[in-house]
Amino acid sequence: MTILKTTGLTKKFGDFAALDGVDIEVGKGEVYGFIGPNGAGKSTAIRVLLGILKATEGQATIFGKDVWKDAVDIHKRVAYVPGDVNLWPNLTGGEVIDLFIKLRGGNNKSRREELIRRFDLDPSKKCRTYSKGNRQKVALVAALSSDANLYILDEPTSGLDPLMERVFQECVREAKAEGKSILLSSHILSEVEQLCDKVAIIRQGKIIEKGTLKELRHLTGTMLLVETKEPMPNLAEVKGVQGIEQRDGALSFQVDQEELDHVVRYVSGFGIIRMESAPPTLEELFMRHYEGIGTGGAL
Ligand code: ADP
Ligand code: MG
Repeated sequence: MTILKTTGLTKKFGDFAALDGVDIEVGKGEVYGFIGPNGAGKSTAIRVLLGILKATEGQATIFGKDVWKDAVDIHKRVAYVPGDVNLWPNLTGGEVIDLFIKLRGGNNKSRREELIRRFDLDPSKKCRTYSKGNRQKVALVAALSSDANLYILDEPTSGLDPLMERVFQECVREAKAEGKSILLSSHILSEVEQLCDKVAIIRQGKIIEKGTLKELRHLTGTMLLVETKEPMPNLAEVKGVQGIEQRDGALSFQVDQEELDHVVRYVSGFGIIRMESAPPTLEELFMRHYEGIGTGGAL
């Protein structure tokens, strides 16, 4: 069942297209990673989805309803954590959480207490004294306390330490297990790799790759680590081989899927001592794409 869908979504600021024909689709119970470097258009897309910005072209629906016209209706079942969490400076964290929960018409005290404990948040402090990480925790506790069908989280872990990131990941997994859908934007690929069923990679307003991790890995081949008796002087010229690196006395490199057979044949001619293979990480996939289009892999 489709929960969120965009078709040809375009948002221009003057002549500049912050979003250019974006198609994404989030199903029920899915965690969808929306990945891209800073300035790629993630927050703009999310603001359009929330009905804060009006799209220039294209369609976007949540629960089958138009995100602009039916925003009020949609928001009853959506919880949101913005990229820059700004809170009322003179309220305490606990007061802000209560306010959000009340605005959403919920009243789940035990869930609120549980999340405050798990995120190790002191709710008695005034918001003006909170660090970025603590402001993010306030927004996360407020969002995760509410019983929404869709959670839209814009770079939710950018200010969290690794321990809290793990708490966050548990919360996302629990929400998914309850059949909720989560749209999660990030420029931190490792976070997404562990959590998401599907990812879309956005760059300069355009989706450059999307699918399940399995599908994307299939596109990108296999990582090999090989140690041979004799050196392989021409490995770099072998078709399908990329990104050769020295690693503890062995060579590590990426192989296109369709060339795997003949690359392994080539390598075996030099006397294999050790060979390990693994799917590439999303990081490697991402870097490779950027190299492919000549930006030197810069994030
Ligand atoms: P991300 O969240 O992926 O870092 P954003 O969606 O915030 O990226 O921004 C995408 C691009 O759109 C950036 O180049 C940004 O400067 C531009 N942009 C965002 N909001 C506005 C705005 N209100 N007016 C003009 N340009 C904007
Ligand atoms: Mg952003």
